[in-house]
Amino acid sequence: MSPRKIFATTALPYANGNFHIGHIMEYIQADTWVRAQRMQGNQVNFVGADDAHGAPIMIAAEKAGKTPQQFVADIAAGRKQYLDGFHIAFDNWSNTDSPENHELSKQIYLDLKAAGFIETRVIEQFFDPAKNMFLPDRFIKGECPKCHAKDQYGDNCESCGAVYAPTDLINPFSALSGAKPEMRTSEHFFFKLSDPRAVEFLAEWTQNGKHVQPEVAAKVKEWFGVRTNPDGTTSEGLDDWDISRDAPYFGIEIPDAPGKYFYVWLDAPVGYLASLKNLLNQRGEDFDAYMADPALEQYHFIGKDIVTFHTLFWPAMLKFSGRKTPTKICVHGFLTVNNGEKMSKSRGTGLDPLKYLALKMNPEWLRYYLGAKLNGKNEDIDFSAEDFMLRVNSDLIGKYVNIASRAAGFIAKRFDGKLGAVSEDGQALLAQLRAAKDGIVAAYENRDSARAARDIMALCDKVNSYVDANKPWELAKKEGMDARLQDVCSTCIEAFRLLTIYLKPLLPAVAVQVEAFLNVAPLQFADADTLLGAGHGIGKYEHLMQRVVIEQLDALFEPPATPVVEAVKPGGEEIAPTITIDDFAKIDLRIAKIVECKPVEGSTKLLQLTLDAGEGKTRNVFSGIASMYQPEDLQGKLTVLVANLAPRKMKFGISEGMVLAASHADEKAVPGIYVLEPFPGAQPGMRIG
Ligand SMILES: [Zn+2]
Repeated sequence: MSPRKIFATTALPYANGNFHIGHIMEYIQADTWVRAQRMQGNQVNFVGADDAHGAPIMIAAEKAGKTPQQFVADIAAGRKQYLDGFHIAFDNWSNTDSPENHELSKQIYLDLKAAGFIETRVIEQFFDPAKNMFLPDRFIKGECPKCHAKDQYGDNCESCGAVYAPTDLINPFSALSGAKPEMRTSEHFFFKLSDPRAVEFLAEWTQNGKHVQPEVAAKVKEWFGVRTNPDGTTSEGLDDWDISRDAPYFGIEIPDAPGKYFYVWLDAPVGYLASLKNLLNQRGEDFDAYMADPALEQYHFIGKDIVTFHTLFWPAMLKFSGRKTPTKICVHGFLTVNNGEKMSKSRGTGLDPLKYLALKMNPEWLRYYLGAKLNGKNEDIDFSAEDFMLRVNSDLIGKYVNIASRAAGFIAKRFDGKLGAVSEDGQALLAQLRAAKDGIVAAYENRDSARAARDIMALCDKVNSYVDANKPWELAKKEGMDARLQDVCSTCIEAFRLLTIYLKPLLPAVAVQVEAFLNVAPLQFADADTLLGAGHGIGKYEHLMQRVVIEQLDALFEPPATPVVEAVKPGGEEIAPTITIDDFAKIDLRIAKIVECKPVEGSTKLLQLTLDAGEGKTRNVFSGIASMYQPEDLQGKLTVLVANLAPRKMKFGISEGMVLAASHADEKAVPGIYVLEPFPGAQPGMRIG
């Protein structure tokens, strides 16, 4: 089979604020899907862009004293840290004010006009005489005509939930200037969605079971039926769509209509094509030729709040401008955080993605956790802190990483890093793992990463049962069992490789580490059909992932601290009295490698470290860091040792120095202790100063 050719997008975020966790969830879903496609050898162009136009950005930019272009550029500059942070690998990120989008939007409009789908009508609209502009619904306020609550928006009442037209408001005023708006007439441009050709096309396109999920199709079907309008009248079929706004407006001017601009939602989805075109231009490829390929598939990942735009307006715009229509609109639900509380940054219940990264929480924990919940349906999912910790620790650490950590040491120490032959029972286990491939690939294809994760964890359980039944740590102590020990551990490593292939769309960075550890090229799904085989040499095993600890989640959901106005005490204590450089020179700080790290029996606080500070012998140091680290988290890492501290006799033995770690003065208020680690390149024994 020849590789599929796919063009995939996520919804364009409105460029008036930073990403929230809902954006990140969508990007993780799409990125996982794209990675799974590429692992099958399919060619994907995966693009995003900022939605730059519209009245809210124009008004926000004016308030900030910037041009709209500068305002959008400043927002865009902040995107990369989120995308890189969560391993979201778009091929291109553009914005809807790009030259490509101006050109494409105008051309699509002209094509629709030529096909008879555009008409103009004079409508009545509120006008702000102080600001000299027509007012968008959200910028008109007044008294609710139903419940008489004051200060309600022009489209619906937040007090009683009533939906109405801005002209129904009692005592309306402009939210921009406070002026009483005047009713004025203006000529608007409409896309004739009521045209029988459009109705017939969309009725088929949305209901033929090919392009949207069944639950989405059912919802869309309601819009074709008889319904009651806010003013009490009824209508049937589809309404025409108002696609123009009057100047001043930040957007794309309509051809041959000075002072008239495309409504932001007309040019926003065109931004998908424009970002792709921008990408292909950079590569010197031809956009029209790329789009003309009938085999090209077009996938849009979106949230349930923008279904109308993507299942009615967008396919109709493409169809009747003579363009390719989308292959699939992939709709996901909303993400709630901690038992369904609505996300709200101001209330502090939200999950701030940047704070997550700043706390050094592993981005792949989140990728796996959300992936294990997303099932391809238009359903809401919940992020629960406790569930997150249990799931990640149990699945990723307890079930998956554990397999490699239990087997790799024996292969390295006893068999010179070489895998051995796998005997019949091991082959049977590996055959079961390999047989699961097609089901897992299909689950990824259907965006049912929940099913993929479930299947993979069931396979992990089988492997762990095999390990428990064969007990390599006991084989290692018995005489004459070397061949069996190598057999069992080789089976584990082969199994671990297969599991890593299956998890790679969700855990791309871990997969890269595993590829280095196993000495293999970047893993593809087809690699699951083969084994490494006897004689294959593996590299050194490095611990792949830490556990989630409760302190991290506490810190993540801690409401933002209220700023302190009085004397600042960094870390809870004042800076110590001044010393001279000679005082500092008395302290000999050295880089040390943690060659071994063990729990201390009888102590919940201490870990016992064996340190190599380049002295030709090791040192024994006890450190009160057991609340924050598992021994395997630290083994093999570099840290900083106070090398000339007098040895100290402790209950558990003599401590020959001290490891540097940071903590807050008030441990109860701000828990956590953090071991220092030097930048890469430092060697054991180097002095710090
Ligand atoms: Zn009301």
